[in-house]
Amino acid sequence: MNIILFGPPGAGKGTQAKRLEKSRNLIQLSTGDMLRAAVKAGTEYGKKAKDVMEKGELVTDEIVINIISDRLDEADVKAAPGVIFDGFPRTVAQAEELDKMLDSKGMKLDGVVVLDVDDEALVERITGRYTCAKCGKGYHDTFEKPAREGVCDECGGTEFTRRADDNEETVRSRLSAYHAQTSPLIDYYESKGIVKKVDGMAAIDDVTRQIEEVLDSLA
Ligand code: ADP
Ligand code: ADP
Ligand code: ZN
Repeated sequence: MNIILFGPPGAGKGTQAKRLEKSRNLIQLSTGDMLRAAVKAGTEYGKKAKDVMEKGELVTDEIVINIISDRLDEADVKAAPGVIFDGFPRTVAQAEELDKMLDSKGMKLDGVVVLDVDDEALVERITGRYTCAKCGKGYHDTFEKPAREGVCDECGGTEFTRRADDNEETVRSRLSAYHAQTSPLIDYYESKGIVKKVDGMAAIDDVTRQIEEVLDSLA
């Protein structure tokens, strides 16, 4: 089963994708994570993406399409029961390319799960977000704290990082990029009849339950 977890920055896509990896053995394909890894490694794509990401704008379609296409050809992805696209596609051009790509690889999209969250809540979610430096588990200053302060629940790590673009100013431009370039994709997928809306304002466990129900209905 291949799905898109769709929603604005901070909606909870990464949080929910990690849970679905565990419950369903699906593989999370986050273009944001892949781009941050490319920036860190200093690859050609990383060099091109760095400034754009810091401004909260979208990197070129060409870069993310190539990254995703290469990733879909890797052995672990091919062996998995399916993938979760997280943060991709973000433009109509990317969605059209994804359709072609999936066709040519003999894959199909089963559903687009849309997480609905108000803009004000997004700013609060993003500015409080942090991540375990060792295992990548996501946390929030208010909404998802580790059981023991300063110690990662998953791996016991004690170092945490915050994203350079998770500040209020950049969040505003990321939200306008979302409304201008990404939200039109909901219509694109509505016309294919595969959109499933979920109340992303609910608590994290509740959102997980809603998504699991949607996936059960698709299976
Ligand atoms: P968020 O947590 O806001 O959903 P991501 O980690 O998905 O953020 O993305 C971080 C940044 O990486 C974006 O602001 C954008 O600059 C870039 N990016 C990620 N995915 C894409 C994409 N599919 N198309 C263009 N740019 C992307
Ligand atoms: P995205 O991948 O869509 O950008 P994340 O999954 O990283 O979003 O979530 C953004 C922040 O909000 C994280 O700190 C996360 O712990 C928190 N969060 C995620 N889902 C919820 C929720 N339903 N309610 C409250 N906080 C949430
Ligand atoms: Zn950890």
